[in-house]
Amino acid sequence: MDIKGLRDALRVRSHVIDRFEEAEHLEDRAPEDLLTFVVVGGGPTGVEAAADTHDLIFVVLEEDYPNVDFDSVRVVLVNAGDRILKGLDSALVHAATRRLASQRIEAINDAKVEEVRPDAVVISDERTIPTRTTIWAAGIEPPPLVGNLDVQKDHRGRILIDQYLRVKGSPEVYAVGDCTSIQYDGPPVPALAQAAEQEGTLAASNLAAEIEDKAPVPFRYRSVGQLVDLGEGSALVDILGVNLSGLLGAYVWKAVYLYELGYDLNRVHVLADWTIDMFTRPDTSKLFGDSSQPKTHT
Ligand SMILES: Cc1cc2nc3c(=O)[nH]c(=O)nc-3n(C[C@H](O)[C@H](O)[C@H](O)COP(=O)(O)OP(=O)(O)OC[C@H]3O[C@@H](n4cnc5c(N)ncnc54)[C@H](O)[C@@H]3O)c2cc1C
Repeated sequence: MDIKGLRDALRVRSHVIDRFEEAEHLEDRAPEDLLTFVVVGGGPTGVEAAADTHDLIFVVLEEDYPNVDFDSVRVVLVNAGDRILKGLDSALVHAATRRLASQRIEAINDAKVEEVRPDAVVISDERTIPTRTTIWAAGIEPPPLVGNLDVQKDHRGRILIDQYLRVKGSPEVYAVGDCTSIQYDGPPVPALAQAAEQEGTLAASNLAAEIEDKAPVPFRYRSVGQLVDLGEGSALVDILGVNLSGLLGAYVWKAVYLYELGYDLNRVHVLADWTIDMFTRPDTSKLFGDSSQPKTHT
């Protein structure tokens, strides 16, 4: 399963709940793969997915399944790099590593996933992790429309663009966001909303400049920081050189999130949800029926 959008996240949630429904009926006959949950990718999305899967299991579901042996549950994070959260300050990486370890999330570094099967994940050292749940957070694929475009692309199928955000070989066309790969003399551009926004703004003004016969402005990515949610009461914050983790990080994460929502009504809704969550047990109802056929990637 992948986790590109809200529907995907809800599908993962329903799938996890289904595994506990099965385990509850099987009691101590539950096979190892049933309650092992593997997240592939040690970037922010993978770390957040692992931490949130842990919280769903141990904060939300544990009370509802008295016949399940929660000590046998495994949440495994498989990461191709030598450490998780590459690019983040090492103090924050340590804080995240400690947090995951304290939650018994097994982080396996230097391990590339070779194959995802319906009942296992095979990693590069030929180790096999029996699992019926694999969450893919190791990179995104451009949509089919981009795949069909007859333009220059990089090895990951992303559209090559120049420093003015124009498609290589088709300078009359601009392209921005995750589906592009910029060739320029500047810092790497991550697949993040802040990069896509910066590119979108500049592409629009370069297009306007072109219409008015003015010179286009070259792109330069400026990181405004990074936030990583580590589950209940903990987050990493790296904004303008200020690093925070733990509970303080979680408060800043929430404040930034509220600010970024943009509309006051949304802010009030989210704030009300968070407040209610502080005093009530989270809802365990499933939102999607059929989660038994996970999408597999090889
Ligand atoms: C789980 C997750 C968490 C993330 N968290 C963060 C974060 O905390 N901070 C951050 O900065 N970034 C985060 N990102 C990355 C961020 O979401 C992306 O970098 C950003 O959305 C890229 O914007 P985009 O416009 O290029 O692509 P998208 O946001 O993917 O938008 C592309 C749009 O094009 C539409 N589309 C596709 N094909 C067609 C077609 N043929 N016709 C018409 N429309 C089409 C799609 O439906 C979609 O709406 C996260 C990503 C994921 C998956």
